[in-house]
Amino acid sequence: MTHPSDSHWDLVVIGGGAAGFFGAIAAAELAYDTQRILIVEKSSKLLGKVRVSGGGRCNVTHACFDPRTFSTHYPRGEKELIGPLNRWSPQDTIDWFQSHGVTLKTERDGRMFPTTDDSQTIIDCLETQAAKLEIEIWTQAPVSSIIHHSKAEYGFTIEFSSGTHLKTRNVLMATGGTRSADTVRLIKNLGHSTLTAVPSLFTFNINDPALTGLAGLSVASVELAIPELGLESSGPLLVTHWGLSGPSILKLSAWGARKLHSVDYKFELSVNWLPETDIPKVLETLRITHGKRTIVARSPFNDIPRRLWERLVQLSGISDTVTWSHLSKAEEVSLIQTLSDSRFNVRGKSMNKEEFVTCGGVELTEVSLKTMESRRTPGLFFAGEVLNIDGITGGFNFQNAWTTGRLAGIAISQT
Ligand SMILES: Cc1cc2nc3c(=O)[nH]c(=O)nc-3n(C[C@H](O)[C@H](O)[C@H](O)COP(=O)(O)OP(=O)(O)OC[C@H]3O[C@@H](n4cnc5c(N)ncnc54)[C@H](O)[C@@H]3O)c2cc1C
Repeated sequence: MTHPSDSHWDLVVIGGGAAGFFGAIAAAELAYDTQRILIVEKSSKLLGKVRVSGGGRCNVTHACFDPRTFSTHYPRGEKELIGPLNRWSPQDTIDWFQSHGVTLKTERDGRMFPTTDDSQTIIDCLETQAAKLEIEIWTQAPVSSIIHHSKAEYGFTIEFSSGTHLKTRNVLMATGGTRSADTVRLIKNLGHSTLTAVPSLFTFNINDPALTGLAGLSVASVELAIPELGLESSGPLLVTHWGLSGPSILKLSAWGARKLHSVDYKFELSVNWLPETDIPKVLETLRITHGKRTIVARSPFNDIPRRLWERLVQLSGISDTVTWSHLSKAEEVSLIQTLSDSRFNVRGKSMNKEEFVTCGGVELTEVSLKTMESRRTPGLFFAGEVLNIDGITGGFNFQNAWTTGRLAGIAISQT
């Protein structure tokens, strides 16, 4: 990094990720080129997470246009994001990208991607816009300290690991998840407290012969519960080589992130494979209509694939030769129990390849949610995952970065 050490800036954005870029661009767009803006990024790559996001396609946002409904997808930040989402909504994000040459498309489940199916499109768009607006960017520039001088016009001195330092009127902290002790130290030195970062969005490791050989199999709608922790979720479930995954598990991991961390990811999981079915009634009917057929022969439930049905029958202690008319009362009770409440011992977690985030970060009570400015240190702003906001999979985490980045940029442009 060979830059003048005495530079003076209107805004230094710390972190060259989605939130940092969007904040810097908003400030530059709205300040009509009157502000000197610098993005500093510690690594050699800009927008690294955008690149790998959504399996390389970048799930930019989600097609859900009511801020209140949208905000229900954030285990942390649900209530607090309603206001910000009213000010910069998913529709605003879509329109912004459209007006900068990127068209987004919606998939059946509501996730939105660039029509190119390539995250590079988003990177190119943000980098081109930053260049047009003459935003300066330094890479390989890790910030090692930020000092606030309350009375000075250029209220912040930023120091880099290299020893270089500079002055700025405003700082936008867009450093991402707060797992690193260095990031926590930077934030604490500016008068803020952070909630300890723990993973969110992970899959459950289960080493149980009951699942052996079933990897790849999915069930469209199950109900999950962790009774000892009072946690529940529902949705599609996927069996993997390591245990269980799919939207119902990811949701449970997100909403239960702190509780699951507190038990070191060791707990008992209950799976109701047929939450919407009156199982006793269906079994009673089968005794009459298919009395001669062996139970294991065919899954009577459309939602339960054959291989899973065979396993569930086996787990209920019912032999392959038992027919529906010869099913004993005890066997019936056992089958109902297995179908509605299979128990698994979870013994750890795996991070989902596609997407993971941390829960934790800067306490939202310490930040104005209108401007994203610190309530403790004037001129300091926060955006993105550094805040104690995280969403479930589906484009919600990037929308948080766009919304909070934009609001910070607007406020900074007016300083
Ligand atoms: C594999 C993966 C896939 C994902 N896919 C999706 C998806 O499709 N849709 C979605 O909504 N969300 C997705 N997410 C989540 C999403 O990527 C993040 O929520 C989002 O990138 C957060 O943006 P950010 O700008 O706040 O932080 P980041 O993208 O983490 O950027 C922060 C930047 O700050 C830099 N930095 C940190 N400290 C310093 C310092 N001291 N000095 C200088 N620079 C510093 C970091 O190097 C980093 O580049 C995914 C996450 C992962 C890991």
